[in-house]
Amino acid sequence: MTEKKTDTIAVRTGIGTDTQHHAVVPPLYLSTNYRFPALGDVPTYDYARGGNPTRAQLEQALTDLEGGAGAVVTNCGMSAINLVLSLLEAGEHIVAPHDCYGGTYRLLESRAKQGIWQVSFVDQSDHDALDQALAKQPKLVLVETPSNPLLRVVDIAEICQKAHQVGAWVMVDNTFLSPALQTPFALGADMVVHSTTKFINGHSDIVGGAVIAATSELAETLAWWGNCLGATGNAFDSYMTLRGLRTLGARVKQHQHNTEAVLSYLQTVSAVRKIYYPGLASHPGHQIAARQQAGFGSMLSLELDTDQAGVARFIDGLTLFALAESLGGVESLVTHPGSMTHRAMSDAAQAEAGIAPTLLRFSIGLEDAQDLVADLANAFARLEGDTP
Ligand SMILES: *Cc1c(COP(=O)(O)O)cnc(C)c1O
Repeated sequence: MTEKKTDTIAVRTGIGTDTQHHAVVPPLYLSTNYRFPALGDVPTYDYARGGNPTRAQLEQALTDLEGGAGAVVTNCGMSAINLVLSLLEAGEHIVAPHDCYGGTYRLLESRAKQGIWQVSFVDQSDHDALDQALAKQPKLVLVETPSNPLLRVVDIAEICQKAHQVGAWVMVDNTFLSPALQTPFALGADMVVHSTTKFINGHSDIVGGAVIAATSELAETLAWWGNCLGATGNAFDSYMTLRGLRTLGARVKQHQHNTEAVLSYLQTVSAVRKIYYPGLASHPGHQIAARQQAGFGSMLSLELDTDQAGVARFIDGLTLFALAESLGGVESLVTHPGSMTHRAMSDAAQAEAGIAPTLLRFSIGLEDAQDLVADLANAFARLEGDTP
């Protein structure tokens, strides 16, 4: 049989597998516990923290989509990252991107302060900085590409090769692209993490996460820790996520189509000081993105040529873009990283990471592209004071 393509895997997950009633869409198993057929005869599923058939279906789907060997579905993206970190021994060293997801930064920094691990936050596109950090013999290298919120792109294959030379695992946070646009295992990664809250579920109605492993040995260790820590995801959220996942391919295509329309418009606006999007030829990571991604995604950030009051005026003028955290849902969103997603970072750390006070991040949704452009045009008119 030929290998199935992403859209087919996503749509077909679990379809037609119900042997009891032949339901086309797989049923949802809510039961906490499962009957032992006889004393000493341990069933495949015994207690839902350790395993659940609905969650297992999602784990299989994510494993197939990423091209891994096994997965653990967790109750959120942060618990997926925490689960990966539980593989480390006390005092071991971690290398993380200096502009990583705010929650990841907070977790790493807080645990480092407690003396549990050592962490180096580095600009991984700076080869010297990366080499210096790798010289400290880290056990784990975290990679986030494109990064949040500046969409910096790093070369996954190159980082994996260098990290493996010093014996470190590489974990790639693939939340911003989903396996529809990037598959880090093909580039050498050891673990892939998702906040399934975002594109995988895609409807902004559950919080979930997953770790997918390149080897079954790593997958088994992660599953053991997932049960030990109580990090696993629940059945209902897994069901919702499977439902959302079926349309991943179609959604991502339309997300990108709309993003192109929004970008063409934004490039004509004088109040836009800078656009951060890997699809632009001027983006420093454009070449790498074109090589390692199957598309440029639907996340973009921009710096407005204004002050704090101007940013507030602009946001106030938007009606289709809700001012909210999160991303990757069907609805368009705007975020002010400085005061929202990245507020756990000090002003100095924000400046160091390049997060300007007038930076806005957009998650381009599935509304009509022309309506989105018109909404932005209204907000820019308001920013310029053309409308009351
Ligand atoms: C949202 C997000 C997370 C955290 O996921 P939660 O589901 O909110 O816990 C981690 N990494 C990235 C890149 C994210 O966008």
